[in-house]
Amino acid sequence: MSKIKMTTPIVEIDGDEMTRVLWQMIKDELISPYIDLKTEYFDLGLQSRNDTDDRVTTDAANATKRLGVAVKCATITPNKQKLEEFPWLKKMYKSPNATLRSILDGTVFRAPITVPCIKPSVKTWEKPITIARHAYGDIYAAVELHTDEPGMAELIFTGSSGKTERVALPQLDGPAVLAGYHNKDASIRSFAKACFAYALDTKQDLWFSTKDTIAKIYDGRFKEIFEEEYAFLKAELDAAGVAYFYTLIDDAAARIVRSRGGVIWAMKNYDGDVMSDLLSAAFGSLAMMTSVLVSPDGCFEYEAAHGTVSRHYHRYLKGEETSTNPTATIFAWSGALKKRGEIDGLPELSAFGARLEAATVAAITGGTMTRDLAPLTDGSVEVKTVNSAQFIAAIRERL
Ligand code: NAP
Ligand code: MG
Repeated sequence: MSKIKMTTPIVEIDGDEMTRVLWQMIKDELISPYIDLKTEYFDLGLQSRNDTDDRVTTDAANATKRLGVAVKCATITPNKQKLEEFPWLKKMYKSPNATLRSILDGTVFRAPITVPCIKPSVKTWEKPITIARHAYGDIYAAVELHTDEPGMAELIFTGSSGKTERVALPQLDGPAVLAGYHNKDASIRSFAKACFAYALDTKQDLWFSTKDTIAKIYDGRFKEIFEEEYAFLKAELDAAGVAYFYTLIDDAAARIVRSRGGVIWAMKNYDGDVMSDLLSAAFGSLAMMTSVLVSPDGCFEYEAAHGTVSRHYHRYLKGEETSTNPTATIFAWSGALKKRGEIDGLPELSAFGARLEAATVAAITGGTMTRDLAPLTDGSVEVKTVNSAQFIAAIRERL
């Protein structure tokens, strides 16, 4: 059989623990036998990040900017516990995803992979719901303070022109907690641009929700910028049959439950953090959630929404059998292959990505699945619980 040819390489970003093991299995069994794979490889495994003082992460981000399409394996974000586990670690490196996001300036889109025998908890959802999460600022870049006495607080802005502005908080009559947070027009605008670009790319309606009735200036600014970008693209969106709709976050929460799905729900950083976990649980499992970072200049970085599955890896190291679900990581690869094919005008490559997804879904629909999914099925299939290697073999058989 002749292999499918590629022209431009995909940026391949390897990672850690159980997902690193799955990564190799996926490449060996499901990609390399069919595709003359061209990648620029970056090892973001903790050892290699440590050896390069994390330069490899920056290099991977810059390669993504240059080549436009990347696929990333889950990586460890070192914490205190990891410092104890790996005494050779020079420092607690920043999350690779945070570094990638700060260089690519993107928005994270998360969508569940749905299969007919696993029904979402919400009966009306017929299609997947995609979360678009702004990935900069708000409480994630806040400064905080606790005071144990009464007093007064002010927000003071000193402009580069020397002009100052002050706003007083309500008088504090006792111990209190305070926070100051911010966002930037440029970041909000790139978030809006990425959302509209993704809506056009996937031909789904875009909902955006904040709480601008309360945060009139802060959330109001988000709403304004989205409206400006919408006005700019309205003709193109209309022609593609894609609608834009703004509503309050609480109204959106109620509407999403009554909807049929098939929309992109854009949210501020914290709202997106909370709602993406709620949605992935309602659709079934974190191992069935795809994630793509889309930059405003059109770069795409595909990954699974879950982490390195450390608990399974420790069992794997002891020689025990693991039934880790590789689906989201397979979809990261298929997403990257489809996008590369689309950009480079290689329909065979895109078609392969689609077939890989179909074969994965078919294996599950046929009843062969990993342990996390088995309890979620609706009883319509006879379930055969398998380990990761057997699951990948079942996909290959169908491929
Ligand atoms: P995790 O790797 O997502 O795993 C948490 C639990 O979810 C697992 O123990 C497992 O539950 C279940 N799970 C997740 N993915 C699964 C899969 N593919 N198949 C079957 N079950 C799955 O989160 P974590 O254990 O909190 O984090 C581990 C490491 O990943 C940390 O170092 C963290 O920093 C990193 N992380 C990286 C990324 C990323 O690179 N994008 C994202 C999140 C976390 P059971 O044990 O009950 O089976
Ligand atoms: Mg979270």
